[in-house]
This record gives sequence, structure tokens and C-alpha cells, in this order.
Amino acid sequence: MTQKIRTRFAPSPTGHLHIGNARTAIMNWIFARHSNGEFILRVEDTDRERSTAESEQSILGDLKWLGLDWDEGPDKGGSCGPYRQSERLDLYDHYLKELLSSGDVYPCYCTAEELEARREEQLAKGESPQYNGHCRHLSEAQIQAYKTEGRAFSYRFKAETENVTFRDLVRGEVTVPGEQIGDFIIARPDGMPMYNFGCVIDDHLMAISHVIRGDDHVSNTPRQVLIYRTLGWEPPIFAHIPMILGADRQRLSKRHGATSVDQYHEQGYLADALVNFLSLLSWSSETGDEVLSRERLIQEFDFKRITRSSAVFDIEKLNWMNGLYIRAMEPETLAKCLLPYSQSAGFPVQNAAELLPIARMVQEKMERLSEFAEKAKVFFQEAAVPENDAAREILAKESSKAVFGAFLDQTKTLSSLDRNSFMELMKTIQKETGVKGKDLWMPVRIALSGQEHGPDLPGMVEYFGLEKCRRLIQQAMKWI
Ligand code: GLU
Repeated sequence: MTQKIRTRFAPSPTGHLHIGNARTAIMNWIFARHSNGEFILRVEDTDRERSTAESEQSILGDLKWLGLDWDEGPDKGGSCGPYRQSERLDLYDHYLKELLSSGDVYPCYCTAEELEARREEQLAKGESPQYNGHCRHLSEAQIQAYKTEGRAFSYRFKAETENVTFRDLVRGEVTVPGEQIGDFIIARPDGMPMYNFGCVIDDHLMAISHVIRGDDHVSNTPRQVLIYRTLGWEPPIFAHIPMILGADRQRLSKRHGATSVDQYHEQGYLADALVNFLSLLSWSSETGDEVLSRERLIQEFDFKRITRSSAVFDIEKLNWMNGLYIRAMEPETLAKCLLPYSQSAGFPVQNAAELLPIARMVQEKMERLSEFAEKAKVFFQEAAVPENDAAREILAKESSKAVFGAFLDQTKTLSSLDRNSFMELMKTIQKETGVKGKDLWMPVRIALSGQEHGPDLPGMVEYFGLEKCRRLIQQAMKWI
């Protein structure tokens, strides 16, 4: 019988969801959906000092916003729960006792200072620093002496010297010489499991078939494989995906700008665009297409197409892609998404329906929803001030004066102005004044908006209506 595909995302709730971790979550989700498998969310909160309930909330919120639905998790339950490590301590304790009694784990009394001093000694000798087995064979007397001194002990796992090999769907078969591993701590003095230990117990008990994670964890994997081996468990299949780098090829960090999903959300990136963009860092579709719906990402996913080289986060590409997704939205949906941006800009708009005509006009020109305030301000200003000298010079031209004169003249007897009647009007003005092309259109655009480039002009005219257009043209004449 083939094993059910089960993947997991295991964030530590010590801050916001980092864009690199979001990419890991996306890959796990895509692969689970691709294989008709299950996607599990596990919160790794054993670092009690750094873990917070707020971080957990915000990470779950961001994952939901990204549309990554999980089948089991702390908020949902499931047959392998609980899904928060802090609620699974009895399980770790059980296996810790098992490993202690089999002699695979021993108490280690070394202090941080002693460990550091030994590390430096090893480095000075050109050796790779690792635990020297100091507490492996302590006599009863030594143990008593440490206890009298009041030293606390951690739980250290006995690493073997044989090679450790694991299967990695990105790197192929990976073999690490056993002597490079060294005995390592799997639980703190209070019994709290360290990452490598908790992770193995949970991945096994949660029947995880594939562990897909960033390759910053690749050095942990041999240790985890050793624990699996000692407990007599089959390790999952691993896939270590390359790190995301900034444009300077350094690991993506705050210096490069926004690094957490909530910041991208706030800046008006769309979840679909972000999922598409992040999935393409290190992976590509066989078709070579880059704009891929979730359905296509799921269908076309293949581990073979994950590259081993690190991916560079190209914000220009994300902006371009986000623009495409904005343009592909139903204007009604776009208007709904823009409403909070309109409200925070203080525009006097009550609901999405009122925003719809404006949404339609700016849709073509936006790469991020947060650009809305800037793009839409022309619709809410009472007077249009030319944005720069170039715009002022255009208004001051003789030909512009003629266009404005004809505009006011021709509209005197009109009762309304819409898209179509505006186009007719402009034809008449052209005939009457002999002014055409840019000289005809640009002054009108600047008179109405103050800008040389902006929303669709006939749309803007229709939105303003006859009276406001006449008023703005009259105001523009004072710049002549
Ligand atoms: N809590 C670990 C992290 O956030 C999980 C690593 C893993 O996927 O095994 O880095």
C-alpha cells in the first residue's frame, strides 16, 4: 500500500510570517494538493520565551489570507493532535525516557562556558567544533559532585560515527560522515524538547510523508535521521529548497525592504499574485509560463523542476505580476478591495458601489492597491493644480487658450456631458480651433486633473459631469 502524502508547515510563533517561510508553506500546500494528500499546520512553540499567542494568530491569519487551507491544525484539530508543541510535552517526555533507558541519551552537565572554551580550542586546532563526549561516561562520583555543585543537566543524544544518508528530492541522496555530527542536545534541563527532537517525534506521529523546508535546515536533517534510526522509525522523504536572496545575493533580510507577508498585504499585493510569485522562486513550470493560477500551480508541480540554486527576490517582477492580477480582477471585486485604501485616504466614498467607476478607471494603471490614494486623488480635488512646470507650460500655450475658449463656448448650451458627448465635443473643438493631437487633448487632461498622465480622460469627464468640467476649465484659464 502506498503511504498517503502528508506534508506540514511548522512555524515557530516568534514573529510575523517571513516571506521565505511563506514560500515553504506554499510549496508544502501545493504538493499536498497536487497529490491529493493532506497539509498539516503545526505550531512549534517550545521556545517559551520567544513564542507568543499574537505571533501565532498573525501567522495563521497570514496563511489564511494567502489562501493556504490546512486539513489539520491547532484551530481545526485532527486525528494527530494536539498541533501545538507546547501541548504535546507528555509525548516528548515519553520518548525522552525511552531514549534515556536505552542509553541513547545521557545527562550532560557541561556549562555554556565549558562548551565555548572547548569549541574555541577545537577551532584553534583546525578541527570542526563538536561535542567531545565529555559527559558520555561520567562516574557516579562525578555525577554526585556536579549535583552537589547545583549544576543542571541537559539531555544529550549519542550520535553514531557511521555515515548518515537521507533522500532529498532536490539534492538527491545526501550522505554526511557520522563524525561530523557529534552528540547533540535534544532536551533542555526542564525536559523541554529542542527543535530536532520535537520535530522528529511530531513528524513521525503525524505520519508526515514529505518534509519540505528551507535548506537552512539541511544541517539539522542528519541529526533528525539519527533519532529516527534509533527509535526504529522510517524517516520521511526530505526536500530542502534553496534560500531566497535579496538583489545583492545576500540572504533576504529587513535591509532589503519588506520581509513579512503582512507588510506585502498592507502594501496592496494580492494573495494570488504573491502565491504565484513565491512559488516561482526556485521552481518553474515545464511550460515556461510564469503567470499561473493556483489550479495550474497544483497541477504542474513537480519536484524535478526545483532548482538547487538560490532564488533572487525580484521586487520589479512581483510588481509586474501584481499589476497583471489587478487588471484581471472583476472591477466589482477590485472596488471592494480598494475601499479600505479609499477610506484611509479620507476620500468621501461610502461603499464599494460608489467606488466602482473610479476603480474601473485606475485598474489599468495600478501595480499595488496602496497606489490607489495617489492615482485616485484627482477625482476628489476641487481644483486641479498643474503638477509641474511642464504641465503649467502646456496650459499657458496659445493653442490651449483657444481649446479652453471653445470648450466653454460649446458646452454652454449642453445639459450634460458623458463619455460619448465628450468625444463629439472634442471633434467640434478640433474643427473650430484647428488644434489637434497632443495640443488638443493634453491641456484638457491637465485642466481636469493637473496631471499629464492619469486616468482615462473620457471616463474622468463622465465622472465629473458637465458642471465640474466647466468649472475646472475656467480655473485652468487663470494659468494662461
Ligand atoms: N519551526 C521550524 C522553523 O520555523 C520548522 C523547521 C522544519 O520545517 O522542520 O524553522
